[in-house]
Amino acid sequence: MSERSEPGGAEGRPPTDDTRGTRRARVAAGVAAAVLFAGVGAVLALTTPWNPLPGHVPGGHVRADPALDFSPAEIARSRAFDSAVNPPAYAGLLAGLAVILVLGLTPLGARLIARVTARTRRRPLRVVLAVLALTTVLRLAGLPFDVWSESVLRRYGLSTQSWPAWLVDQLKSLGVTWVLYAIALLLLYALMRRFPRYWWTGAAAGGFVLVVLVSFIYPVAVEPVFNKFHSLEQGRLRSDLLAMAERDGVPVKDVLVADASRRTTALNAYVSGFGSTRRIVLYDTLLKSPRPQIESIVGHELGHAKRDDVLWGTLVGALGIAGALCLLYLLMTSPRLLRRAGADPDGGPDEAPGEPGPGGGRGAADPRTIALLLALVTAGTQLAAPVQNLVSRRIEARADAHALNLTRDPATFVSMQHALSVRNISDLSPDALEYLLWMSHPSGPDRIAMARDWARMNGAPVPPPPRR
Ligand SMILES: [Zn+2]
Repeated sequence: MSERSEPGGAEGRPPTDDTRGTRRARVAAGVAAAVLFAGVGAVLALTTPWNPLPGHVPGGHVRADPALDFSPAEIARSRAFDSAVNPPAYAGLLAGLAVILVLGLTPLGARLIARVTARTRRRPLRVVLAVLALTTVLRLAGLPFDVWSESVLRRYGLSTQSWPAWLVDQLKSLGVTWVLYAIALLLLYALMRRFPRYWWTGAAAGGFVLVVLVSFIYPVAVEPVFNKFHSLEQGRLRSDLLAMAERDGVPVKDVLVADASRRTTALNAYVSGFGSTRRIVLYDTLLKSPRPQIESIVGHELGHAKRDDVLWGTLVGALGIAGALCLLYLLMTSPRLLRRAGADPDGGPDEAPGEPGPGGGRGAADPRTIALLLALVTAGTQLAAPVQNLVSRRIEARADAHALNLTRDPATFVSMQHALSVRNISDLSPDALEYLLWMSHPSGPDRIAMARDWARMNGAPVPPPPRR
């Protein structure tokens, strides 16, 4: 980003049309990235429900207080679980970052790719092999930490999987990663090769479309790889839930049940997809909960559906990806970064004889730069996570407010949140770092406090602590 060196190629060479052209392209890409990121920032600032429960709270806001609603034993169990899952989570995060940064920012990654692609000169195949090799190495590096996490879940009774079933899940998720990355990078490297100076325009537009497309087909193309779904069976629960959706003005044709119990004892529900693929999914673990609690949870999901949170999140995310791809062009045409990553900024020996001369940012199109690309993508994703979580927590709180407005039953909402937190052994008082890195939802006590705010604002009895 702060690249101040020769844009075209070797030191001391007088500027040619080629280097001038590259410089112009870099300025244009920088402006496009700045405009797109500013757009994302403005949209988030203006559309995020920073105050999900607007209005005056008589007597002031209720403070989140785990000790009020959770027994000392529940709090102790949550703390113990938290200190058991945190070490593998943080260590796995750091190890994954370290491995990809070392591969991408030293010649090691380029060497690994050169080795696995040595037997072919076909570029698409080299791109695919590089993707396979790098994602596999990364998954293997993370494996010990994933085993560690899984063994903690097992010890606390949250996981119901056998180790072989767990391993099959890991392989499936690696397979999904392969397919998604291979498609994206085949397209990207073809663009880089074809349009060394202006690939970022096609990449930004293509990245936007691809993100929207993947989010749209995800419920029908990816979720079934991991779970089986069936319609909630006919009966009072189903008709009550559909009637509630009707009353809410959210057209819902079906409620799906996922066989989550093959993996976990945790309780959950979610909305995914949009348009014709939108679905409300309940974990089968949830079906034994008291009916009013299930209604409260579905009320929350209807809040997401009514506001089109998935579509909106997808569009804003896609805009951010488009900006990131413009920024990626700036980084991937930096001679200093390319040399550091063991690639030749001018295209190098990989170029067939008789190809256009040096410069022009051709070095990025060499499949050996894929390690550098993955390192930059990983770093960018990690930097974006705290912003995503911050916005997500506000959107989740708005869906909670929706459930309260719909059911007008804060007492059930409080007992539901209590049940969710206890069953899922949620972190009852996350620290600042946990909020930044992991918390896409407000904590249980935060959500309970908001339900009490809602009761105060609406003149309803303020829910007492759940009996225990
Ligand atoms: Zn939600």
